[in-house]
Amino acid sequence: MIFLKNDFENDVFVKNSFIHGTGIFSSIAIPEGAPIMIIKGEVIDGNECERREDEEDNVYIFWNGVDCYIDAVKTDKIKFINHDCDCNCEVLDGDEESLILSAYRNIEPGEELTIDYGYDEIYESCKCKACA
Ligand SMILES: [Zn+2]
Repeated sequence: MIFLKNDFENDVFVKNSFIHGTGIFSSIAIPEGAPIMIIKGEVIDGNECERREDEEDNVYIFWNGVDCYIDAVKTDKIKFINHDCDCNCEVLDGDEESLILSAYRNIEPGEELTIDYGYDEIYESCKCKACA
């Protein structure tokens, strides 16, 4: 299990987003490259990931880059992160049961945190600021 000595999880809050539904925001400035929070959840395999996406409309699953998936549906913050092609956060490798959300560039207080979801379907109908 990964443990970050300093992170910004307590500075991240959930509120309505202009991008889509609900989003997560930082209440303070976060410097480029800083770890923001650990992405944790239930570890599942590729088949179970597909089943949950298809049968349960679960869109809160992160791929850990190897062969397992992290279902963040029960988390209170990270599951609300929205997609932006011009994102300010990135997802870094953690271990088999976690990933790290990190600042891709300097983030201002009050800014919404976004990542590039990185799958083809999102780009076809993307309504983010970079695409609009
Ligand atoms: Zn876009």
